Amino acid sequence: MIGPDDHARDIASAITGQVIARAGHGRLDTQAMLDHARTVGGPALRAMTFHDRARMLKALARHLDSHKQALYDLSFDTGATRKDHLIDVDGGIATVLVLASKGRREMPDGHVYIDGEVEQLSRQGTFVGQHICVPRPGVAVHINAFNFPVWGMLEKLAPTLLAGVPAIVKPATATCYVTEAAVRIMLDSGLLPDGALQLVSGGLGDMLDRLNGQDVVSFTGSAATALKLRQTPAILENAVRFIAEQDSLNASILGPDVQPGTEAFALFLREVQHEMTVKAGQKCTAIRRMIVPRAQVAAVIEGLRDALGQITIGDPRADGIHMGALVSAAQKRDVLEKAALIGQEATRVFGDPDTFTVLGADRDAGAFVPPMLYHCADPDSAQHVHHTEVFGPLATVMGYRDLPHAAELANRGQGSLVASVITDDPSVARELTLSIAAFHGRVYINNATSMAESTGHGAPLPHLIHGGPGRAGGSEELGGIRAVKHYMHRTALQGSPEILSAITGTWMPGSPEATGPGHPFTRRFDQLTIGETLHTPPRLISSDDIDHFATFTGDRFYAHMDDAAAARNPFFPGRVAHGYLLLSFAAGMFVQPDEGPVLANTGLDSLRFMKPVTPGDSITVRLTVKAKTPRTKSYGEVRWHVTLTNQTDDPVAEYDLLTMVAL
Ligand code: NAP
Repeated sequence: MIGPDDHARDIASAITGQVIARAGHGRLDTQAMLDHARTVGGPALRAMTFHDRARMLKALARHLDSHKQALYDLSFDTGATRKDHLIDVDGGIATVLVLASKGRREMPDGHVYIDGEVEQLSRQGTFVGQHICVPRPGVAVHINAFNFPVWGMLEKLAPTLLAGVPAIVKPATATCYVTEAAVRIMLDSGLLPDGALQLVSGGLGDMLDRLNGQDVVSFTGSAATALKLRQTPAILENAVRFIAEQDSLNASILGPDVQPGTEAFALFLREVQHEMTVKAGQKCTAIRRMIVPRAQVAAVIEGLRDALGQITIGDPRADGIHMGALVSAAQKRDVLEKAALIGQEATRVFGDPDTFTVLGADRDAGAFVPPMLYHCADPDSAQHVHHTEVFGPLATVMGYRDLPHAAELANRGQGSLVASVITDDPSVARELTLSIAAFHGRVYINNATSMAESTGHGAPLPHLIHGGPGRAGGSEELGGIRAVKHYMHRTALQGSPEILSAITGTWMPGSPEATGPGHPFTRRFDQLTIGETLHTPPRLISSDDIDHFATFTGDRFYAHMDDAAAARNPFFPGRVAHGYLLLSFAAGMFVQPDEGPVLANTGLDSLRFMKPVTPGDSITVRLTVKAKTPRTKSYGEVRWHVTLTNQTDDPVAEYDLLTMVAL
């Protein structure tokens, strides 16, 4: 990274203040980068299936995991402690692994993602609708904040690559040397197709001016930068998708039921201590405002003074250090300037930036600050406390009089990433959730029951959305497969079932049926074709069958046993067969009993009983291969569409049957 460059910017260690890297601000051939992504990386990624790309991500995560020490070593100079590395480096790798796993489980081994159910658009079912998602043939430009140089990159990169879209990553300059090392490790692995991943260290040049409607910008940083970049004429004119994750003044509310001395009270103090000091408070989800019952303000301040007093500050390489430095001298200036604004409305009750101890490092050479706790006595008229994000270890305690007041104060942040509620009382949790949920991307409720396994107020999880309304940017990231959809285009497809089945690779009712040689249960995963169908001969349902099933299972519900009582029920003409009896008979009718490639029945989806079956009716079963998804090297999941019809061809039950079939 350090090299001759007229426009290079020096980057100093957060601990020593010495220059340790230089980021190039030379002239970039941005068009060549975009062309490389669009014409080389994109086609190579799109030629792969979702499963191919998920496997690639898993291998990439494992490769990064085996090289992570190098990333830890570099990250110390960003001010991060070992515990912080676990969030950034290990958390980033874990995020890639979760998305890789979800890609294999929840997406098809194909090129089209089916979004939702088939929509019936016609009486006879010859014209139907289906939403599908396909990869955008453009490029994703990721602009990241300085605080998580690895996680911040990987949480965007994993869904982008899984979607089949190439990425150009632009980390924040202050910590770009860590991102650069991670990108180099990934490129050196040889696991990525050429053009799938490119890096810009320093300025982006005129790249944003060259984007078109198939491209995506995913930005994380301050609201001011987001506002500026959103207004790039090419982004506005071409309706470039712009995802923004920006400022957030997250709140934590202590329930009125929680008293000092209880487990829940201690939990509240621990969560706040953790959120204020991890990454030296440079975490978009950190708790900035503690909203507590007025009667508990003094006890909360007392408890937090004790908790924060235990935090050791110093060289993050040294043992026993809880909190390192802010990322840079500039960030320290910014934090202290904004702390002064908070100081106009609140009193500092812990942490003096002029008199604190730093262990193993020069306090003035590094970007160190202590945890700073403020108390705001008049939160209703305060402005900065609710609107000025101090991106460092600073938080403000304020009192509330009742739950509506607590919610009003939490919502004064005008949109945040997360709000937490510590309470043992479900009615408190419900009332607060209903009044704050629309203002916060995530609502995290914790108490003594859940605390041992809870994931922490500030931890965005790959399974759940990360993002918030208003000030927080109004976007979403993560949230499982939702994250992948940001990089795909959703199209509403209309046509006949046959045409739509051919496009999606999934059979739908109304599509032609196929027959194969012999019973489908005798053939292996690869030998089964989509649409292959078995029709069984009919089976008569008798009262003896129903009696037998009732006695055998113990299910003597009146609708199966008592003709007159069943007839009084608006759904039944009289005594009817158990739904589960029909399912069991259906299995007996379509199963091929010999040992063979079908290994296991793993479940039913979308089961519906549509019409009652009475003694004397007969049922037939249609079993069709609907979709196939490889699972391991030795077996795959076959999803069968099953329809039971009666003697007049009316459907009586319908479901998807899931089986594992040997490859
Ligand atoms: P920032 O100053 O807004 O910078 C964010 C990114 O934008 C950096 O990569 C920066 O690059 C880049 N950038 C700035 N001007 C640009 C331009 N004209 N063209 C292209 N790129 C440009 O924010 P930061 O100081 O890195 O991060 C702190 C902020 O991020 C805080 O406000 C925090 O709340 C927010 N944040 C939000 C989340 C979230 O998920 N919501 C997560 C983390 C952080 P340079 O570094 O080269 O200037």
